[in-house]
Amino acid sequence: MGRTFFVGGNWKMNGSKKEIKELVGAWKDADTDKNTEVVIGCPAIYLDLLSNELRSDWKVAAENVYKKKSGAYTGETSVDMAKDCGIEWAILGHSERRDIFGETDEEIAEKCAFALENGLKIIPCIGEHLEERENGTTMDVCAKQLEAMAAKIKDWTNVVVAYEPVWAIGTGKVATPQQAQDTHKDIRKWLEDNVSADVAASVRILYGGSVNPGNCAELAKCPDIDGFLVGGASLKPDFTTIINANK
Ligand code: PEP
Repeated sequence: MGRTFFVGGNWKMNGSKKEIKELVGAWKDADTDKNTEVVIGCPAIYLDLLSNELRSDWKVAAENVYKKKSGAYTGETSVDMAKDCGIEWAILGHSERRDIFGETDEEIAEKCAFALENGLKIIPCIGEHLEERENGTTMDVCAKQLEAMAAKIKDWTNVVVAYEPVWAIGTGKVATPQQAQDTHKDIRKWLEDNVSADVAASVRILYGGSVNPGNCAELAKCPDIDGFLVGGASLKPDFTTIINANK
């Protein structure tokens, strides 16, 4: 069975009620590829608003959720709270969570397992820093991040992996289609060797890092690229061009 093309947005800590309403209004009747699954990640405080305003064929993701059901975890968002707001997805382990907020592979893996076991679908992010690409350890880094997840995830049905080289995020320096394809292929091979052939064949692997309306079509042609996770360009009306990259 083919892998359905998937395009996720990640608004990070951007937007206001007014801007969200304007953007969602511009997308409302846009003619987008019905064969592409679309999920928009937005800040926790706007999840309810976005879930009410967004067209019903697109879904919403939390940008982070915690690994406990409820309790004394000031500032955190629970899986149940996200679900209570109609949210079906969570982006987890984004490089900004890792690098700015100090989330470890282990913590991210725990969050992944907890979210899945409690009914959210997840987009865990992996990827190397520039120095790691330059010293040839890209796949070692990705394998370590995947290994932590694979030790805790029992069922990969609701997992969409985002490969996001950190040097390409928000920098305008996109990976070449060949660089992205090579790493996606290596990630799929890792899944085959360490999880199962079925999971490797069925899990969607997204590319993220400076994807825009001008570079998405070439990347979308790569056989192991099943879609994108998009930051800056998902805050603009022409994000729909990226959604249609596989058309
Ligand atoms: C991201 O934040 O996941 C991302 C890929 O950002 P950008 O598209 O802006 O590089």
